[in-house]
Formats: sequence, structure tokens, C-alpha cells
Amino acid sequence: MSDWKTVIGLEVHCQLATRTKLFCGCPNEFGAAPNANTCPVCTGQPGALPVLNGRALELAVRAGLALGAELAPRSSFARKNYFYCDLPKGYQISQYEQPYCTGGGIVLASGKKIRLERIHMEEDAGKAIHDRGDTTLVDLNRAGIPLIESVTEADLSSAEEAHEYLTALKEIFQYAGVSDCDMEKGSLRCDVNVSVHREGTPWGTKVELKNLNSFRHVVESIEHEVPRQIALYESGAAPVQETRLYDPDRKLTRSMRSKEDAHDYRYFPDPDLPPVLVESRDIERARAGLPELPAQRRLRYGQELGLSEYDAGVLTSSREVADFFEATLQHAEPKLAANWIGNEVLRALSDPDVPGERLEELPLTPEGLGELLGLVAHGTLSAGAAKKVLRVMIVKGGDAASLVDELGLKQVSDTARIEAWCREVLAAKAEVAEQVAAGNEKAVGALVGPVMQASKGKANPKLVRETLLALIRATST
Ligand code: ADP
Ligand code: ZN
Ligand code: MG
Repeated sequence: MSDWKTVIGLEVHCQLATRTKLFCGCPNEFGAAPNANTCPVCTGQPGALPVLNGRALELAVRAGLALGAELAPRSSFARKNYFYCDLPKGYQISQYEQPYCTGGGIVLASGKKIRLERIHMEEDAGKAIHDRGDTTLVDLNRAGIPLIESVTEADLSSAEEAHEYLTALKEIFQYAGVSDCDMEKGSLRCDVNVSVHREGTPWGTKVELKNLNSFRHVVESIEHEVPRQIALYESGAAPVQETRLYDPDRKLTRSMRSKEDAHDYRYFPDPDLPPVLVESRDIERARAGLPELPAQRRLRYGQELGLSEYDAGVLTSSREVADFFEATLQHAEPKLAANWIGNEVLRALSDPDVPGERLEELPLTPEGLGELLGLVAHGTLSAGAAKKVLRVMIVKGGDAASLVDELGLKQVSDTARIEAWCREVLAAKAEVAEQVAAGNEKAVGALVGPVMQASKGKANPKLVRETLLALIRATST
């Protein structure tokens, strides 16, 4: 079993974040009334002529640059012919023989590079909705939305690598403002090509997996497809080249169409569209407009802010988180901000009681968090109390200072009150006090906790510690 190798190549479609469609002025938006965003061009009326959206080309070029790819000075559009109700022209405009971009890739944490074969531009098809009894509904709002398709070489060798590659690709496109990559809205879609072979023998027959609506489904479908193929070979059979659909409920893949029913798309150059010319001037402009990418940010967080590699990774996991962190830095120290965002804020996002799964859905603002951390840094608020305040800020919003008052959490630095709590605890834990008196100063930690509890987390822990030591010294001399 163990000498089987898995070979994977990924084809990822991303909708570009333009205002309008690829070849007409219809809005590129999600969620409009069915067929509201259509015109003669994107519904394929006779005589309507496509005109390339310059902004789409700019974003496509930016994607190529962000992935270290090479941009073709000249590329072209072709017609990919097939008949389906979501494609009123009878063909999809796509780049075939001459894509605008080749090469480039993504380096995984292990140092392995996943090479890109190409990136090309194409238009999206409409949406056919089949789940209305025996009626099929067609919504052409999506028809003509600009896409880039990034195709990897078959360099990936496990589900984990596929997941890491996709996560990195999504981050890069989001950072670069190329696409929102929101899989729930279909703006990032992925097809997986998988085969297995024995070490030292030629690659096996590849199977294409479709219908993968999340990165989790990508991982699961590979984890189910690989043993299926191995079992076939081991029983003396072999996989057939085909497209299989992943069924996430039953956690298996099933055949959708085999090679025999594969389409012959009869590609030919689109006579309505001139060649796409990208000049070095355009490339330099796009390069200058490229924002800082996640890998660069991670490096900077380590070098300039002194964050650990782990913290830098967590804080750059999405542009949204990184931007939130940087805005918080206006009001707080980097390490404090990193700890609180990494540990408390991001963790809250996976809490079912918290209204929102994304940072931008929370009422908490970077200014608000910064103010709270200022109170912690100045000793006005203990860490425990700050967590309580933060919880309210995350769930309901509000500003730190008023919440501290409202919740009665202001840290107590009043020595008389602290002394009273300390005496209480010392009386109850005389044996620990003796250990401290005998020279084991570390043992005082076992007393600080109970004092903090007695004060309901409001005592200033530094003062508590000092007071305990002073009281013990005073009684032992
Ligand atoms: P097709 O002609 O079917 O579109 P391509 O050669 O264009 O096939 O490859 C499509 C994707 O499949 C690419 O990402 C490529 O790396 C990947 N691929 C090609 N051969 C294999 C294989 N034997 N196993 C896994 N993936 C493969
Ligand atoms: Zn249109
Ligand atoms: Mg192909």
C-alpha cells in the first residue's frame, strides 16, 4: 500500500473584483434579482459586440504578478463551443492557445514550489437552477462575469498540500484585491485532478473531481478518491479517465461523465475580439499598484515588530485580520495587540454565541481594542477583567472605559483593600507563607491566585504580589 504516490493538479476559477462584466457594462454583483444584470452582449443577441473590460485585464495582470508569473505581450480570445441553457451564445469566450499569463507559482511552507502552468481569462457562464421539480430556471446575471483560471502543474502530492496551496492562493488574490474569493458566493471555484501511481512508474490515469464547494470538500474528496483508485489498481483493474462529482453528504465521489462523453469544444479564435496587448508600461503600472502580499507582511512582522513566526502567520492569515492588527497598532504595542487578536479576538469568531464569523461582522473596532489594551498596559485593568470587557465589546460593542465602569471592573490599586484580601488568604494558607518565609519566593504565586479570586479579578496583581511578600517578611522577622 505504502509505495503508492498521489499526483494532483488544481484548476481554480476566480471571479475578478470588477464593477462590470468582462465584455459589457452590466454590473458584476452577487445577489441581484434574476436576469436583472443582462444586456444584448451577455445574453448573446445577434449582432451584439463584446468589448474587453480594461479593469478586468488590469486585475488579471496583477494576479499574474502576485504569483511571479510571466505576462504575454500578446494573447487572444477563443470561442469554446458547447450547447447548454446557461450559455446563450452557444460558446464561452476564453483564452485557449494564447493565455495572457504562464509560469509562476506558490512556495509551500515546506519549501516545495507548486508551479503554475498558466493563468487565462474567460467569461463565466450563467446559472441553471434544476431543483424546481421538472422545471429548470436560468439566471444570466453570472453570464459574462470576468474569471481568471489558474492551472497548476501536477506538482501536488497530498490533500494537505492542496489545502495549503488553495489557502495561499486565496490569500494572495484577496490581498492583491484581485477577487474576494468568497466560495459561498461562487467567486472561487476549484476542480481537482487526481491520479495515483507506484513509485518509479509512469503517472496513472487522472480523474477530475468537481462540485467542491469548500476547501474541506477538496480535502475530503481527495482522501476518498485516492484509496478508490489504489483499490482498483490492486484488484487488477484501473481507473477510467472521467469527471466525478463529490457527494459531501455521503462522502464519496461518483461518475458524472467519462472520456467518451467528453466535449469536443471546437475552439477557434474569436473574430469579434482583437488580440490582447500588454505593454511593459502596463506591467510596471500594475506592479507599482500591487499592495504588500502576505509573505512580505509576515516577514515584516517578524523583522520590524519582533513577532514570532507563529504570530506573524496567524495575523496575516487574511488581509482583513492583518489590516485590523495594523489599525490596532496605532493604539497599542505590537506584542500585546498580537496576543490579544490571536488568542481572544480570532478565537471568538468560532464561538457560536458570537454574532459573526468574520472580523468585519463584529462590533469591535481596532480603536476600541486599542483603548482596552491601553488600560491593560497602564495597569488600570487586569488581564482577566479585560477579557470580560472584550467579550462584551465583541458581542455587543461599546467603548472600553464605559464598560469598565459599567461592569465595575476597574483594577483596585488601593493598598488598604489589597492588604485586607492578602491577610485573609495568608491566614488560610499559612503553610505556603512559611515556604515563602523560608526563602522559596516562587511559592508566592500560589497565594496571588486566591487573592485575585477574592478580589473578583479586580486587584492589581503586581501590587498583590508585592503586598504578600511584604506581609510575610514583616511577620517572619
Ligand atoms: P485536460 O486536457 O484534461 O484539461 P490538462 O493536461 O490540461 O488536462 O491538465 C489539467 C490539470 O490536470 C492540470 O492541473 C494538470 O496539472 C493536471 N494533471 C494532468 N495530468 C495529471 C495526472 N496524471 N494526475 C493528476 N493531475 C494531472
Ligand atoms: Zn451585459
Ligand atoms: Mg486543460
